[in-house]
Amino acid sequence: MFLWAWEVKMKTIGVLTSGGDAPGMNAAIRAVVRSGIQNGIKVMGITRGYNGLINGELFEMNRYSVSDIIQRGGTILKTARSDEFRTPEGRKKAHNVLKVFGIEGLVVIGGDGSFTGAQKLSQEFDIKTVGIPGTIDNDLNYTDYTIGFDTALNTVIESVNKIRDTSSSHERVSIVEVMGRHCGDIALFAAIAGGAEDVIIPEVNYNLDDLCKTILEGKQRGKVHNLIILAEGVGEAEYLGKEIESLTGIETRATVLGHIQRGGSPSASDRILASRLGHRAVEVLINGGSQRVVGIKDNQIIDIDITEALSLKKEFNKDLYEISKILSY
Ligand code: ATP
Repeated sequence: MFLWAWEVKMKTIGVLTSGGDAPGMNAAIRAVVRSGIQNGIKVMGITRGYNGLINGELFEMNRYSVSDIIQRGGTILKTARSDEFRTPEGRKKAHNVLKVFGIEGLVVIGGDGSFTGAQKLSQEFDIKTVGIPGTIDNDLNYTDYTIGFDTALNTVIESVNKIRDTSSSHERVSIVEVMGRHCGDIALFAAIAGGAEDVIIPEVNYNLDDLCKTILEGKQRGKVHNLIILAEGVGEAEYLGKEIESLTGIETRATVLGHIQRGGSPSASDRILASRLGHRAVEVLINGGSQRVVGIKDNQIIDIDITEALSLKKEFNKDLYEISKILSY
């Protein structure tokens, strides 16, 4: 939607990235800045998340501030975690800075913690907020996907393919530990896309004896390797590997992918999602919306109330888990 400048009530908005970084955050920043400017709005970039906001780290952005960033991982605005912002005093300081710069609306790109911060800011002060889901974990219920998840998944698959090669050659068991403290989506999706024999995620209890039985039965049927994807929230790959090796007698190797999963050029899918969400976030502010979060459901861009979004517990994709079991046999 395009509105002429004189029709726009909101004159200045701010944008920040907060929490863990995710590939595609830059594409979201670009969409916010360009959609804002197109609608005659001044856009202030805030660096280092809520910390930067409290410390007054702001600068005016123009169309060229976001040139050549759509393909870059990380976030040009930097990101941070801020304990001070968790306190009412910290948020008061943040509000003072927003007032000084005439910022009426704030776009927060981050995860559920960052959304909670935005919600509090709006509840305590006259500041409109919109959240854009930027986290590789895909741990938010109200949206089918978060920005960064698809890229992280592809990074995992690239590594898994390589580990498979060496695992097959040596006829080993391989355990690949991926990110996901409370949400097993990266592990589950990677298990299906990577053709893993088993997946261990926080949402489902696993039994070590059953796992070893499956490994041994697979070997008897002629499987040349055994690939297990483990979500970090469940346990340590190294420890599990030792247990499996001692129980099955099969050589086992553990790989922890770690921060490699956060980096890299965003996938086309993440860039498109980020562009659509960034554009919608600005529309929400222009239309007077506040305490909203944007997301994607059944390929439609949506915006819903932030409190409702935060109250929804992430549902575990049981069907996908069952499929992974059937296809790994
Ligand atoms: P990720 O999913 O990558 O962890 P996140 O946004 O959930 O991202 P958090 O570290 O939980 O990451 O939150 C980011 C920041 O949001 C915190 O450092 C803090 O400044 C702010 N924040 C989080 N929770 C609250 C809260 N309850 N009240 C006020 N601010 C909060």
